[in-house]
Amino acid sequence: MADLLARLARRIRREGPLSIAAFMAIALHDPDCGYYARHDPLGTAGDFITAPEISQVFGELIGLWCADLWHHIGEPHPVILAELGPGSGALLEDFLRAAATLPEFRRALDLYLVEASPVLRARQQQRLGSLGAHFALSVDALPPGPLLLVANEFLDALPIRQLVRGQVDWAERLVALDEGHRLVFADGPEHPALSLLVPPALRAHPSGTLVEICPAAAALAAALGARLATEPGAALFVDYGYFPSAPGPTLAALSRHAAAGVLADPGGADLSAHVDFAAFAAAAGAAGAVVHGPVAQGRFLAALGAEARLASLSAGASEAQRALLESGLERLIDPARMGNLFRVLAVTSPGLPVPAGFD
Ligand code: SAH
Repeated sequence: MADLLARLARRIRREGPLSIAAFMAIALHDPDCGYYARHDPLGTAGDFITAPEISQVFGELIGLWCADLWHHIGEPHPVILAELGPGSGALLEDFLRAAATLPEFRRALDLYLVEASPVLRARQQQRLGSLGAHFALSVDALPPGPLLLVANEFLDALPIRQLVRGQVDWAERLVALDEGHRLVFADGPEHPALSLLVPPALRAHPSGTLVEICPAAAALAAALGARLATEPGAALFVDYGYFPSAPGPTLAALSRHAAAGVLADPGGADLSAHVDFAAFAAAAGAAGAVVHGPVAQGRFLAALGAEARLASLSAGASEAQRALLESGLERLIDPARMGNLFRVLAVTSPGLPVPAGFD
């Protein structure tokens, strides 16, 4: 996106270097040239492929997990079912297919899609609009009441900041311009106050250590944690990430299913970072909610009965369909593929039993 590159350069010349979070927010969400403002990133024709696009079993099992939680919070009617970053709408479609086998649960669901991208909102509207799904721009904009919330590959898209341990204190890694007017990373000044941003367990790491923090994820965890502390409900987050907090850069750009330079094509490539599940859990827990996990995605899906669901789908399927169903689920569960890299974390109201898949 040459336009966005030129605008970023002008802004840096005018205001000085940007934080990586500011750079990411512009590259992903600039209303004219941002990645999510213009692209439909999903699927084989896009830049990346996600679990709901790989296997219908993923959304179906998450639907049954939510039905179980709904039971534990006393089967409220209505209950808000919110999805953060619903992408193509596939997860929710599969979720609702499973929910249809439990008519009371299905009838109680009031659907909310929290989606920033106008392109994807249009796709979701087409797929889910007839079901009366509402759109919201943030979790704060959801109506009050009992809540079930799901999010797959949402947290990794939130802007991160990078902090680098200098000789004495921490400094922030910034996006600057070099003499040739190209975007480059440059470290800002060291300052003692920056160490407060670093997870406590990592503050004493040696000079040269790089730590990523995600203020937007922490704010979301705190808001959701506070809500679930006082109103019944549960939230399920699936993403690639780590636990406990660990140093190391994970910010990456992806274009057409291949790695790209983070600064090379703002607006043209997807940007994401691995999720610090420990920081997310700490923020949700501090706000008064109960956190379960993270557990490996493969283990979670297996515990929810992925094999049984596969068998029942396969029973009525052709040979070719069966092979596709099997290979899709295998890709999500195999520890060498998505089964271990992806983790599942639940945030619930206090006083509920341990949710399925987390014991
Ligand atoms: N959950 C889907 C899509 C994952 S891609 C799937 O698993 O296939 C990330 C999704 O989050 C996209 O729908 C993107 O538009 C949305 N998104 C990214 N940042 C967002 C933000 N700050 N607010 C709302 N939606 C956002």
